[in-house]
Amino acid sequence: MSTTLIKNARIASSNDNHEFVQLDATDILVVNGKIQAIGNDLVCETAVRVDAHEQWCLPGFIDCHTHLVYGGNRAQEFSLRLKGVSYETISKQGGGIKSTVRATRALNEATLLSQTLRRAKRLAEEGVTTVEIKSGYGLDKDTELRMLDVALKVGELTNLNIQRTFLGAHALPPDSEVSAEEYIDFVCQTMIPYVAEHQLADAVDVFCEKVGFNLAQTERVFMAAKQSNLKVKGHVEQLSDSKGAALAAKYNALSVDHIEYLAEEDIPLLADSGTVAVLLPGAFYYLKETQLPPIDALRKYNVPIAISTDMNPGTSPIASLLTCANMACVLFGLTTAEALTGITAHAALALGLKNKGQIKTGYDADMCLWDIESPESLVYEINGYRPTAKWIGGKRVL
Ligand SMILES: [Zn+2]
Repeated sequence: MSTTLIKNARIASSNDNHEFVQLDATDILVVNGKIQAIGNDLVCETAVRVDAHEQWCLPGFIDCHTHLVYGGNRAQEFSLRLKGVSYETISKQGGGIKSTVRATRALNEATLLSQTLRRAKRLAEEGVTTVEIKSGYGLDKDTELRMLDVALKVGELTNLNIQRTFLGAHALPPDSEVSAEEYIDFVCQTMIPYVAEHQLADAVDVFCEKVGFNLAQTERVFMAAKQSNLKVKGHVEQLSDSKGAALAAKYNALSVDHIEYLAEEDIPLLADSGTVAVLLPGAFYYLKETQLPPIDALRKYNVPIAISTDMNPGTSPIASLLTCANMACVLFGLTTAEALTGITAHAALALGLKNKGQIKTGYDADMCLWDIESPESLVYEINGYRPTAKWIGGKRVL
């Protein structure tokens, strides 16, 4: 692996106080994929030298919650909803998540991969270097495993760091007589041990909601994950206060995601368990939700806030993390600095990645150069910029 010396950059990153700031340094030395030194007037005779010409160098962005692997799309459903047809009616007619499950099951691995790659490349173009990808549109063993395999291949073909999450407990399988309890048995007794044994995922996720799985079923999934030494996270408090976040905190979840209906009384539990609050403003926008996540209370208890696309065909078909960062500011009231921390350092925490998300000595050299006035430009302007150079694990990929 080559050694790289970036000179004359304006460097910005979250610091250990979770503030997104300009560092008092212009040079970065990368050795063996890691940031070895940050300073001024760094010298290394053997390094490949890159003159940044005072462009900004930021950590690579981390999209910590996506459903990137799926078949088909829900454009027709989108049109119907715009005409006033309810989600319930669409669901009864075989639409909604069921239609995505059927479309995903119908695709072979090569087709599923090529469709997923298109979306992954869109994310990558905007400076994303790490993407979390969930299963959850198979809901049977073969398709769930195919989704996780496709996610792995996306990483191999794009250079992106991919974190995989098993979301077998996303919905009840369509075209099946199985009860919720029986399906959770299958998830806990068959799937989670298999996924863990073959190292197919880094974490386990559950959709805890009235229209998903109840609290007792969610806890069974969390317990099975813990028994298999897998970390947990949850889709919680999206449509109602179901107490999924408090349960997730009890299991030291990496993150609780959506959380529009999170009660303030449960927020100290998240602070104690080191759980990250992941905002998904894209789903809020597409569903025209009005209940805002409790941003002030999350700040009050110093719960780290991350932002993600929730890229999925039904409720958040947005392959742009920076657009979602903008939405978190406009719709939820985050500052631009909070939004930038939310797609870097805090997104890394939401995935349990200890060496990513900051420009810091010893961290992975995932970073981009940007020809911008200031970092906040990236959040202020939608679709305004692309990085001019990019490194993932020290390897130059742009
Ligand atoms: Zn989701």
